[in-house]
Amino acid sequence: METLYHSTRNASRVMSSKQAILTGIAPDGGLFVSDQIGTQSLDLSHVCAQKYHAIARLVLGALLGDYTADEIAQCVSGAYGDQWDTSAITPLTALGDDWLLELYHGPTCAFKDVALQMLPRLMSVARTSAGDGKNVMILTATSGDTGKAALEGFADVEGTGVTVFYPDGKVSDIQRLQMVTQRGSNVAVCGIRGNFDDAQTEVKHIFADAALRDRLANAGCVLSSANSINVGRLVPQVTYYFDAYAQLARAGVIMVGEEIDFCVPTGNFGDVLAGYYAKLLGLPVGRLIVASNANNVLTDFITTGTYDRRRTFHKTISPSMDILVSSNLERLVYYLSDGDCDLVASYMKDLAEKGTYTVSDSILRKLQSSFGCGFADDEATRRTIRSTWEELGILIDTHTAVGKAVLDARQHAGRQRVCLSTASPYKFSADVLAALGTDVAQLDGFACMDALQKLTGTVAPTQLAGLRTAPERHTDVCDQNEMNAFVENACRRVFA
Ligand SMILES: *Cc1c(COP(=O)(O)O)cnc(C)c1O
Repeated sequence: METLYHSTRNASRVMSSKQAILTGIAPDGGLFVSDQIGTQSLDLSHVCAQKYHAIARLVLGALLGDYTADEIAQCVSGAYGDQWDTSAITPLTALGDDWLLELYHGPTCAFKDVALQMLPRLMSVARTSAGDGKNVMILTATSGDTGKAALEGFADVEGTGVTVFYPDGKVSDIQRLQMVTQRGSNVAVCGIRGNFDDAQTEVKHIFADAALRDRLANAGCVLSSANSINVGRLVPQVTYYFDAYAQLARAGVIMVGEEIDFCVPTGNFGDVLAGYYAKLLGLPVGRLIVASNANNVLTDFITTGTYDRRRTFHKTISPSMDILVSSNLERLVYYLSDGDCDLVASYMKDLAEKGTYTVSDSILRKLQSSFGCGFADDEATRRTIRSTWEELGILIDTHTAVGKAVLDARQHAGRQRVCLSTASPYKFSADVLAALGTDVAQLDGFACMDALQKLTGTVAPTQLAGLRTAPERHTDVCDQNEMNAFVENACRRVFA
């Protein structure tokens, strides 16, 4: 059956999931949603007997109806192959009385790999179906993590290319090396003299540049984004909620049908929204606990029903969660409003113009019946890294520690609880090492990695340790006003 998608702000124009994945964001600024989600449940007993790849095929089949079973099977085996350091893909391990869902076993050691290994394959299939022969150049500005995950996902994927801009001198040593050592004949990486916002702003200008779009179209190329609002990034994340449940059921920890809670370190609301999609697909979820850092706009929203981005932006040790406008929340509000596009559009207009909106009582009640919330500042995050190591012997990264801190502060509802672990501790070696009490002021990225191994007796993932000897392939650095030309050149080179 075809799954039809439309904008959260207007239901009149529908398109297939393939078109939604190629288009990215709706022309009216809304996000693509499908009203078919929730009309059909997955067979839970059947799911619980399956391993990761089979569960991924079931979930993708349910949410992306116009992909054939063969297309989905190919995408799944390509996305979750031996670029992962465990065939379980997302193993579940004990975390004291709770459970840790390890989402960081992919090529870049952060959970974005789960989606970004899949999105390029979904796009490539959609592009072939569209049949217009257009090549897709993915364009991304990154503050560190997303750029590398996009590079690794799109590298050498047929009919696609990827161009990444990062702020030169403003990403960590390891993050820079991850990007500039990237292999692949269709990748382009460039540092920007400026900060992340400068890069981001210019990328938006490039997307809006009609003359460039025409020149690229003549050369058979369209620009697209790998942003977390793309349906093709959201859907793959639903799999690991079912897979975590299946792992607990197979281990005899829960009976099939029993509710469990998930705690999710949250930034743009993509990860935790995937948990809500799992619930709509019939997964017995008690609460989805939204864990924030000092940028606690979502804690306030879930507590009061008022979203207010007019507040100080905090730079924290969990940078991938430093965000004041959580884009994917718009999809949740759509579903909680029973699909009232006009209402969603009015909230988003208020957010854009006044910086705030307040949802109706009925939406707030539904929000609070499915979601819990909490936040941890940097001090609490460091304390949690230290106590988790000292008391449980488990090393967690700064983002995961926000989730664990929020879980620890909550009253136990008697359900099994799964804390999503979104990055390897070695991706944030300096802050993790500092939280354990080491003075890191004089240490570079690799020295921190070494010291963390020595202190804890754990081993850094080869994906990161191997950077030490990897050749630097991308040495370009440019000014903001040269980015446009860089993109055009990259398109001509990659799709020549
Ligand atoms: C992106 C990211 C998050 C936040 O996920 P969202 O889907 O944006 O809520 C949390 N932790 C890490 C390590 C990330 O890279």
